[in-house]
Amino acid sequence: MPYRDPNARKEHQRRYYQEHRDKLRKQQAQYHRENRERLQEAEHNYYQENREEILKKKAQYYQQRKTDPEWRSKRREYSRTKMAERRRKNPEEARKEGRQSMQRYRQKDKVAAYAKLVEWRKANPKRYRMISQRASAHTRGKKLGAKGKFSTTYVRRLLKKQGCKCAICKKPFPPKKTPRRFEIDHIVPFIKGGSNYPINIQLLCPSCNRRKGSKIS
Ligand SMILES: [Zn+2]
Repeated sequence: MPYRDPNARKEHQRRYYQEHRDKLRKQQAQYHRENRERLQEAEHNYYQENREEILKKKAQYYQQRKTDPEWRSKRREYSRTKMAERRRKNPEEARKEGRQSMQRYRQKDKVAAYAKLVEWRKANPKRYRMISQRASAHTRGKKLGAKGKFSTTYVRRLLKKQGCKCAICKKPFPPKKTPRRFEIDHIVPFIKGGSNYPINIQLLCPSCNRRKGSKIS
């Protein structure tokens, strides 16, 4: 039945599609299977003929998206979950991949990479401090034969759990000062057999940390 009104026609098409969806999808899939090469060739030809135009549009689209904060945070979230998934599935492989991509990145432009790193440190003093403290705890622990590891995520969680207060004197860490002054302490020190497992970690203010030294508390 022909429709004069385009809206009515659309509505009819929509209803028709819904009623016959499974059948139509099957037909479509079959058509694609049977004509795969021909379709691919057509697609390829179309791309070749309109290459400039397509690439320009793509570049425009990405440029626009790059500056969209919502998209950026979504993208970051997505790559984080993907990375976590990969780590869960195959931690050894993921670590290797991470190292390799870091190496590639560094070799690409060492100077620029270093400048970027310095910039990042300046922009993220708290995180940088946390990362470097954790790294030195791990190196020191390894040297002294201590077992275990803790993550910076754990340190952040601990900071929240301690209410941003020192675990010994309970005074709040200076809040407005950056970097926030807390130090990662091992409850049982390495020289007394302490580990780098999260359970052995607490956050202290610098003066308590100095006073504690290598005592257990
Ligand atoms: Zn303290």
